[in-house]
Amino acid sequence: MSKKTLLLNASYEVLSFIPERKVFKLLFKDKVEVISAWDDFVTWGSGKVKHPAILRLKNHVKRNYFNSNFSRKALIKRDRSSCQYCGRKLTASQITIDHVMPRAQGGITSFVNCVVSCQDCNNSKADKTPEQAGMKLFKKPTHPSFSANYYVADPQDYWHADWNDFLR
Ligand SMILES: [Zn+2]
Repeated sequence: MSKKTLLLNASYEVLSFIPERKVFKLLFKDKVEVISAWDDFVTWGSGKVKHPAILRLKNHVKRNYFNSNFSRKALIKRDRSSCQYCGRKLTASQITIDHVMPRAQGGITSFVNCVVSCQDCNNSKADKTPEQAGMKLFKKPTHPSFSANYYVADPQDYWHADWNDFLR
């Protein structure tokens, strides 16, 4: 079972769940305050700290800074498992991820450049932009808001009650 750490902006807006090494990096640089913690301790350098459940940034950051926090699961949820080109509802094994601006043309893997696509549409689009391929997106991909809707809970994850204040 894993215990996650939720990161909030200075404004208490939910940014994302962050991995342990990022938790320590933020604590070490004194960039965060601990809002809530798990009952157990984690070793950190030579000392021990309570495993943080919620951290809040001391300085406000633009949300785009966390674009790197890409997750395939959250993307599929945002696009409701539907191909964003032909609208077909897809099963887990039919889903492919399309880079709107293709990687071959410098497109990166992020929420604003990736969409769910069926294999057929992905193949015919290939290394082209939608315009170059003569295809149209249903909607412009956006960064999902990290509400509970987008936090796909793993059965292996513990849920911290204090998260309910932020993930509704
Ligand atoms: Zn399709």
